[in-house]
Amino acid sequence: MQHQEQHHHLATCPLCRDVAGGAGPRLIAVNEHTITVVGEHQFFRGYCMVIARQHAREMHDLPIDVQQAVMADVFRAGRAIAQVYKPLKINYASLGNVVEHLHWHVIPRYREEADPTSHPWAEASRFKNHVTTPNEALDAARGLADALICEF
Ligand SMILES: [Zn+2]
Repeated sequence: MQHQEQHHHLATCPLCRDVAGGAGPRLIAVNEHTITVVGEHQFFRGYCMVIARQHAREMHDLPIDVQQAVMADVFRAGRAIAQVYKPLKINYASLGNVVEHLHWHVIPRYREEADPTSHPWAEASRFKNHVTTPNEALDAARGLADALICEF
């Protein structure tokens, strides 16, 4: 069922395209139920996304074993980011109001931010000035892939 659904959304869903091989140098890890990619901007150094491999809209629509696997991948990414980037805090967010394909934002927050207590979209208008370059993506993906491998 999911495979047909995936094809159905390939034309319109940017995250289905990432899952199908479109993430390019941003790809960090491919897991059974998710892929992990470097975020599209690096306003927060080390920001990543964990994307469900199937075009599901809600976590609660997934079987419980898949929910658990997705969350394990999210927290694995968080731990790798914490290890490599040494942030003050990791923010985890799953909204899906813009792109209706399950994804988790894994966002490192830093002491040197103007307001580390703000929510991570407070300065969203500035993200476009920090779009991830292919070289930044490769560097981040390499460092994080190593950290992900070393963990377990
Ligand atoms: Zn999709």
